[in-house]
Amino acid sequence: VLPDGPGRIADIVPAAALARRDGDIVIRRLADRAILPGFVNAHSHSFQRLIRGRTQWRPAGRVNADFWSWREAMYGAALALTPESLYDAARFCFLEMLHAGFTSVGEFHYLQRDGDGAAYDEPNALALRVIAAAEAVGMRICLLNVAYATGGIDAPLAPEQRRFATPELQAYLDDTAALADAVRARPLASVGVAPHSIRAVPREWLAPIHAWAKNRDAPFHIHVAEQPAEVDASMRAYALRPVDLLAREGVVGPELSAVHATHLTPDEVALLGGARATVVACPGTERDLGDGLLPAGELVAAGAHIAIGSDSHTIIDPFEEMRLVEYHERLHRLQRVVIGHNHGERFSSAPALLEMGTHNGARSLRFHGGRIDSGTLADFIAIDLEHRSLAGWTRDSLAAFIALCAPADIVTDVWVDGVQRIRQRRHEHDDDATAAFRARTLQP
Ligand SMILES: [Zn+2]
Repeated sequence: VLPDGPGRIADIVPAAALARRDGDIVIRRLADRAILPGFVNAHSHSFQRLIRGRTQWRPAGRVNADFWSWREAMYGAALALTPESLYDAARFCFLEMLHAGFTSVGEFHYLQRDGDGAAYDEPNALALRVIAAAEAVGMRICLLNVAYATGGIDAPLAPEQRRFATPELQAYLDDTAALADAVRARPLASVGVAPHSIRAVPREWLAPIHAWAKNRDAPFHIHVAEQPAEVDASMRAYALRPVDLLAREGVVGPELSAVHATHLTPDEVALLGGARATVVACPGTERDLGDGLLPAGELVAAGAHIAIGSDSHTIIDPFEEMRLVEYHERLHRLQRVVIGHNHGERFSSAPALLEMGTHNGARSLRFHGGRIDSGTLADFIAIDLEHRSLAGWTRDSLAAFIALCAPADIVTDVWVDGVQRIRQRRHEHDDDATAAFRARTLQP
């Protein structure tokens, strides 16, 4: 039962009971469909959709391509953006997400200034464009406003990082508060904070930014230990590994979302797990960038929550992201069915993976969603039970088909905030958003 007020599921009742209800209830039967909670994309940089497919090579004379060489291409794309092209890239990226079954996104937004590194008259100009892009296609968005002050620990920003600069802590917090105020009445938008990484903010900034988030029950996200070089830099500067540093600054708690967390010691795993923190896994991007393998089994066993994100958008596919968390563990351990829970006589992975893709992401972004239940946000998707990839499903095996085997093409219909945004694989902005995006990618 969808609400007469906006946004939330009013009730879950058997179909037969609906007819006995008072009021104007419209019954819509979805033949050969199953309903799932919408997937939550807990880590995205939507403009990076522009460089998909354009970084899959290295200069012939260069022996290595890695995260750091990829980053040069990403900086080039970031410097070329205008507010208008950023809007077109973000809108298309969010549209692609909706088609794949994501209904909400945590947009880790670090574009603050113009191409020359000067502040816009409206300091949140670009963040507001990205939020507007999500609203235009009906995607729920938590704009994670990024603090970015150093080009490495104690190092000045590099010239190519000039658009990211938030040089003063108080101004950053004031701007973020103004952004939160600006979207307060908008049903699809919310705001959180994100010190970019321990490389990009002084350690003294971590506690006050965290306090800001805690006071407002807002999300606190940070990239953590994606690359060994960050761990080495942290050891050199602080004689602490990244998670140890975060713990020392008092920010490791249930409200922390640590993005990537690929290079952890057992002690760091125990810290994150003991705090019931969230780790946002982005395995589609991590495999693309050669970042390393998440110690997912250890994190789950220690008590951490894993959510998923499509990060750089090399692929946009929640099914692939959630199953890679499990499949990477299989490759790493030479075992099967690593992450999961006991369900009666069996230990199975599918329910735990679906939880990562939905409820854990909602928890990370502080949404009351990711589940289909009375009072939760009405963000859900329909999948095609007649799809070729699902042939042979049974009640017993359907969750495994979905979580471990099926393509995102099984998604046929998408509702966000109780409003149907995609109907039979069509969105009303498919044509114009795609054309606008293609036009942007034709530019050098
Ligand atoms: Zn990221």
